[in-house]
Amino acid sequence: MSVSEDFKKRYGSKEYKKRLEDARKKMNEKKSGRRDAFEYRFPKADKDKTYQLRLRVLPELTAGEPCEGGVAKEGMDNWYYQHGYHWVEGLGKVECPRIHDNEQCEICQIGFDLLNETDDEEHKKTIKRKYLATQFGAVNAYFLDTDKNPEEVRGKTLWISFGKTIMDKLHECLSRDDAGDKDDPHAFGLFFDVTQGHTLLVEVKKKGEYNNYDQSKLLQKGSPLAKDKDGEADWEKIKEILDHRHDIPAKFAKRSKERVKEAIKRLTKGSSKKSSDSEWEEDETKPDKDEESKEERPETTKPAKPAKEEKEKPEPEAEAEAEPEADDDNDEELQALLADMEGDE
Ligand SMILES: [Zn+2]
Repeated sequence: MSVSEDFKKRYGSKEYKKRLEDARKKMNEKKSGRRDAFEYRFPKADKDKTYQLRLRVLPELTAGEPCEGGVAKEGMDNWYYQHGYHWVEGLGKVECPRIHDNEQCEICQIGFDLLNETDDEEHKKTIKRKYLATQFGAVNAYFLDTDKNPEEVRGKTLWISFGKTIMDKLHECLSRDDAGDKDDPHAFGLFFDVTQGHTLLVEVKKKGEYNNYDQSKLLQKGSPLAKDKDGEADWEKIKEILDHRHDIPAKFAKRSKERVKEAIKRLTKGSSKKSSDSEWEEDETKPDKDEESKEERPETTKPAKPAKEEKEKPEPEAEAEAEPEADDDNDEELQALLADMEGDE
């Protein structure tokens, strides 16, 4: 058997240093890739410290338009991108094909079927928590360059996910044709318009264990996204802001049938006392005394099975996905949302 020089070069010690550098670089990319630097996430509000954000929701970025880091590949067909995931112990986030892509989701379907079989409200809650995905609307937003905004976001275009409370308010504005009550006028119409849209004032309070967004509102007076000295639309500045939008759909893991299957396997297996936040399988496999395989395969050729339920919590990584911040949303909010989704089916 002859081995080519190329082969030896590729795998030999001369290339060792380069390969090590590559591997380290990729390792770090993977680690940092878990958080997108341009995604704004609501910090938890303190009990006595409500905070506010002033931002403008931006129109949808469509495929081919310039955006942060280049040109949008995926783009959006609406001003928000609907997304949601199932949280599965030991597996982490499983993006929901129903919410993202309007396709059948076998996990949600199990939930809907179980919900049909019971009238017990507590049981329904448990089913929803376990099997239904939490839904969000993600938008590009310009955080106004004002000292009323936290310094780190002032004048930036970031993307942000809203839960039901804020999404309802935005939809309500969009469907309104006039300001309504003269004594208490409301914003109405195309709030994300760049020439006469409305500032969204997000107010975040602590309610129970969760963030609450009830007091948020669109300011009534419309204005250009950026103004020149005469108060007219500053088109150059507006273009600059829009050119920093983000290709939101590309930020999410592609929905995967295998992952959905794996999630179902875990969800329906019965609850295990131990769990792991790690997305990696633990490989300290105990000798497998499993039911099935013994008689079917001789022990000697049996491949090592990955450990299943019997595993210790291994991941020391600080950024291992913890229970996602998504749950910052008010619990009642979540329940209402889930109820909505149920209605949609
Ligand atoms: Zn689903």
